[in-house]
Amino acid sequence: MLRGVSESIRARRVAVITGASRGIGAAIARRLAADHELVLVARDLARCQAFAESLVAQGASVRACHGADLADPHATAALAQALGAHSPTVLISNAGVAPSANLTKTTDAMWQETIAVNLTAPMVLARALVPGMLAEGFGRIIHVASTAALKGYRYTTAYAASKGGLVAFTRALAAELAGRGVTVNAVCPGFTDTDIVAASLRRIETATGRSAEEARKSLEGFSPMGRLVTPDEVAALVAQLCGDDAASIHGQAIAIDGGETTL
Ligand code: NAP
Repeated sequence: MLRGVSESIRARRVAVITGASRGIGAAIARRLAADHELVLVARDLARCQAFAESLVAQGASVRACHGADLADPHATAALAQALGAHSPTVLISNAGVAPSANLTKTTDAMWQETIAVNLTAPMVLARALVPGMLAEGFGRIIHVASTAALKGYRYTTAYAASKGGLVAFTRALAAELAGRGVTVNAVCPGFTDTDIVAASLRRIETATGRSAEEARKSLEGFSPMGRLVTPDEVAALVAQLCGDDAASIHGQAIAIDGGETTL
């Protein structure tokens, strides 16, 4: 009986996931669908809706899909306002872009887009949704950062700055909210098998003349495990952080990288 009551309360939790249409965000949506109502955000609304329909066909509850280009401050502000209507207590800021360029080829536009999507949008969304979480006495904010926040990779200055900033923002917000029922954490995946890595592989092939297999091996070699992380593995970690029993995991930047940053 008590278990039933607790499950029905949990079922009412609404989770917003940005970048939910594919890759890690889609894996998180599939995973959280078991016990959350979902609000999905992506730039490509049609693709997001098609994905939502596939989730609903499998029994998920999707409240809404929002199309928003998080590189555009006006779109981000409008999204933040619209999301309030769903009273979400879970925010997964996952949408991200990962340009690759050495410093002299890092344009102002590339820098600004990367900071806007990867760092500013998570702040604007958290700022809008935290008051509702505090009023509920429960909240989970999870930022999908990167191992690029924890170690240096070549040709990633804009990306690393955005993800390093996101981890610093996570810790500062966690300090501000500690003890009020809302936890704030970052997850830091290593190379994960998604479109972002597929694009990196194509760049490596073009720049170095390596075969597709050689290019993939070079990225797999960053991990002591000798393979890419899977989106489902990241989603499982995020789901754990969303749970009631993760209430003491707070202000962390958790690497999920096969030991790349520690071994
Ligand atoms: P992905 O497969 O390329 O998916 C990116 C998602 O973000 C898509 O749903 C995309 O939506 C959305 N998105 C991109 N730009 C957007 C924008 N301007 N406005 C709104 N939505 C936007 O990438 P992923 O690998 O799953 O990456 C997800 C997160 O994990 C990112 O923050 C990334 O930095 C991080 N990460 C990835 C890896 C990796 O190796 N894959 C490693 C560490 C961290 P549309 O399809 O509509 O554009």
